Amino acid sequence: MANVLIVDDSRTSRRILREILEEAGHTIVGEGTDGEDGYIKYKGLKPELVTMDITMPKLDGIEALQLIKKANPDAKVIMITAAGQKEKMIQAIRYGAAEFISKPYENEEVMQIIDKVLHM
Ligand SMILES: [Mg+2]
Repeated sequence: MANVLIVDDSRTSRRILREILEEAGHTIVGEGTDGEDGYIKYKGLKPELVTMDITMPKLDGIEALQLIKKANPDAKVIMITAAGQKEKMIQAIRYGAAEFISKPYENEEVMQIIDKVLHM
């Protein structure tokens, strides 16, 4: 079980992901509401795992991923993707994203990916 930071500008998306992760026994240590907020909270909370939406104001998920990996190269960041974001996914791999979870969320898929990344 892990301490997780959820970063997403959609309140609904954060709530759904929180419910899935809490049901699986994980602890949500914080929520970031945009890329900049997510980066600040990452530094303050030092979570074991981050879920990072891609399309967000201030800093997008790719920019926040870069900052987090610069601060901690071992950081485990799972990108949350929507349809049509292939180019962004390629960038995210280049900057060290651990895995991808696609919206809309499938509970089983979310739990499998989180477990896989935690055991990397
Ligand atoms: Mg978004």
